[in-house]
Formats: sequence, structure tokens, C-alpha cells
Amino acid sequence: MGKKKPRPIPVPAEKIPGLIDAHTHLASCGLHTGEQIREFIAQAAVAGVERICTVGDGLDEAEAALRAAHDSDAVYAACAIHPTRAGELDDAARARLTEMAADPRCVAIGETGLDTYWIKHSDTCADLDTQEEALRWHIDLAISSGKALMIHNREADADLLRVLADAPQPKETILHCFSSPLDVAEEALARGYVLSFAGNVTFKRNDFLREAARLAPAGQYLIETDAPYMTPEPFRGAKNSPALIGHTALCVAQARGQDVAETVTEINSTFSRVYGLA
Ligand SMILES: [Zn+2]
Ligand SMILES: [Zn+2]
Repeated sequence: MGKKKPRPIPVPAEKIPGLIDAHTHLASCGLHTGEQIREFIAQAAVAGVERICTVGDGLDEAEAALRAAHDSDAVYAACAIHPTRAGELDDAARARLTEMAADPRCVAIGETGLDTYWIKHSDTCADLDTQEEALRWHIDLAISSGKALMIHNREADADLLRVLADAPQPKETILHCFSSPLDVAEEALARGYVLSFAGNVTFKRNDFLREAARLAPAGQYLIETDAPYMTPEPFRGAKNSPALIGHTALCVAQARGQDVAETVTEINSTFSRVYGLA
């Protein structure tokens, strides 16, 4: 029996000052208390990570994301019901999310969107009509609260582009973990959306994502970890963390033919703009 080669333990890239993580899940990374999060942020700061947007995918998770954002100056929250759980968006949930959206530490409504992958692979996933209705409600909330709309899209390009085109447009629309083909990237950029690239932009076979990163004008792209998922190369398969965002920054800078400092400066000001920060 051959021994399996042990997976390398992920380590951050060399320090790159000014890094942000535009979309992560601190609670799913095992970080729950204010103390745990502050300690973690201090460690991530060694890798240059300065600001993080953490996402709550349901009411409880959104409350936790907001608490984290109140506990640490470096953390901001995004609140919504995830499309796979769109059936949970009842009147009480709508009322609570509307309150959360008004919180100054809530900078985005998300992740909302469409996900047909989990319709096929899970018995509990909301159907597409329920997802679309929830997406339209979240779009209205983003507009009425003046917050960015943060979109999740898994195997639903055509339906997503259709809904976003005929719904009113929020001031900022972020396509989180952008993983769609190049024609979708071009259409999204033409509409003024922001593409947020996750660890899969570093995967060898994903030349089309690096091409999308190259095409995106300054101001229309971000980077994110979506931790604990989507770990970038060279640590693909290990558990992801916001401290590893530097690997994705280096890959995107290389795709754009830029010095990483220039890329990070562009990303940093896009983070400030889309999330309405000074
Ligand atoms: Zn997502
Ligand atoms: Zn996510």
C-alpha cells in the first residue's frame, strides 16, 4: 500500500499590505466570539489583510456576521438568506433582514442569487421559482437600504442575467466567486457589475477566469476567499482562510500584467466604494 503524500499546511503569501477579503464566512471558519475574531484578524494582518467582509447565509448567521462586524473595526457584514435556503424567507425573516440592512456595519445584501446545482444535488434546496422570488426581494432591499447587492450564482447564468436585467439595478452589484464563462463576464462588465474572484482563479484549468480578471477595468473586480471553501493554489484541497487571500491577489495581478501593489490598490479602493466606506 502506497502512502498518501500528506497535504502541505497552507501558509499565507509574503506580506502584501492593503489586502482585503471581499467575501468570507468567519463563522464557518470556526471563528465565533469577538475575542477569536480579533485574535484571528491580528494574525491575518501579518499577511497584510486589513479588511474583511463576512457573510451570513441565514438569519442566525447574519446576526453572527453583524456581531463580528461590531466587535472588530476590520470586519464588515453582508446579510441575506442564501438562495438554497430561500424557503426560509418568510415575513418574520423579511422584517429582521430589513432591520439588519439598516445597520451601518452591514455593507451588502448577500449572498442572494440562483443555484441550480443544489436543486439537482439536495432534497432540501429551494426550487428555482422560490429562489427567484427571494432574489427579487433582496434586490429591492439592496436598493431601499442603499447597500451593495452580493450575488451567488451556481449553474444559473442565463436566469441570473435575465432577472438582473429586468429588476431595478442597485448602485453596486457584485458577482461573488465569479466562475462563469467569458461571455458572461463580458456582459456583466458591460452592465457595470463587479466581478469578485475567489481561489478558483488560481486553478490550472481556469484560464477563462484569468482572462476575465485581465479584462475587468479597475473598479470592476475584487478578490475574496469564500473561506473555508475555494482554497487557492498551491494549497487547493486544504481548508481556506482569509489569511490566504494573498495567493489570489498574486494570481490576479499576474493575469492583469500588473505589479501586485498596483492590483491591491485598485482592489482596495473598489472595496471602499462598493461597500460605501470612506
Ligand atoms: Zn456563494
Ligand atoms: Zn459564500
